[in-house]
Amino acid sequence: MNHIFGPVNSRRLGRSLGVDLFQDKICTLNCIYCEVGPTVLLTCERAEYAPTKDIIKEIDSYCQDQNRVAELDVITVTASGEPTLHADFGEIVAHLKKTAAKPIAVLTNGTTLTSPQVCQEMSQADVVIPSLDSALPQGFRKIDRPATCIELDNVIKGLISFSHSYKGTIWLEILFAQGINDTAEEINALRQTVQQMRIDRIQLNTVARPPLESFARPINQKSMAAIARQFQEDNPFCPVDLLAFQASQEDEAEEPKKFFFNLDRAADKKAFTVELVEMLKRRPCTAADINRTFHLGGAEKVELLLDALAQDGCIQKRVHGDSVYYQ
Ligand code: SF4
Repeated sequence: MNHIFGPVNSRRLGRSLGVDLFQDKICTLNCIYCEVGPTVLLTCERAEYAPTKDIIKEIDSYCQDQNRVAELDVITVTASGEPTLHADFGEIVAHLKKTAAKPIAVLTNGTTLTSPQVCQEMSQADVVIPSLDSALPQGFRKIDRPATCIELDNVIKGLISFSHSYKGTIWLEILFAQGINDTAEEINALRQTVQQMRIDRIQLNTVARPPLESFARPINQKSMAAIARQFQEDNPFCPVDLLAFQASQEDEAEEPKKFFFNLDRAADKKAFTVELVEMLKRRPCTAADINRTFHLGGAEKVELLLDALAQDGCIQKRVHGDSVYYQ
């Protein structure tokens, strides 16, 4: 298992190395728009879902080459699911800080910030990017489909409290899906909640890549811009980003690999398939994304290759909006 991925050229964070703490998707939520796939284990239980020693070993192996580390702007701790469910999340963040000596960002769905222990572990990070998609119980259930152990009131209280006690940078991400959490009532409830938090940046998003559920539809740019204006009026000194529309397909794509695969050689083809499947586990990609990362000689050529892998059942092909994605 590869726990380390990238670096990814992230417009938000710069050159970011990813650390994925899980093997399967383990989460407190099963969001309708999730790009990773269905939640395999829907839980609030913290456990060592992937061996900590393996994660540490991969970190140490990457950090042996200090030139590679020097090129990074940030290390992003994430998971195929909610990273703070890993029982050794705090230990892994501490190890990263010591070994890589780079700023640490954490992507979290914010539901575990109800726990003082998680808040304490999280306080080691330099940037925390929590999400909150609805401040109303019905909307929250519809879009994020939480585990039964999750209470929205507690999640909101946890987020507000953490935002005031934490000394680092917080960017709150809110994803809107058409007809689910884009009503005036939903938006007003979110605005009121955000007003109670200390936030450095608000990031608004919609369903940009193939979602878990086909009924999770994006909202259009005009409506997103109107929502952004409302958040901006409430928070005149806080930048409000429209992620889905500012981001091109190249944004947050994995950087081109430094090695080349000769796909006429069986060993290279096998190695490429393994790398490709690892990449697609984290997010669906277009043929252009894949071509950029693996230098395969043009998106058309890559499409033929990917279609063959899709026919073999290694990967799946899906149309979302105007684009074809592989996952
Ligand atoms: S989008 Fe994030 S929080 Fe929601 S189910 Fe997927 S991994 Fe969990």
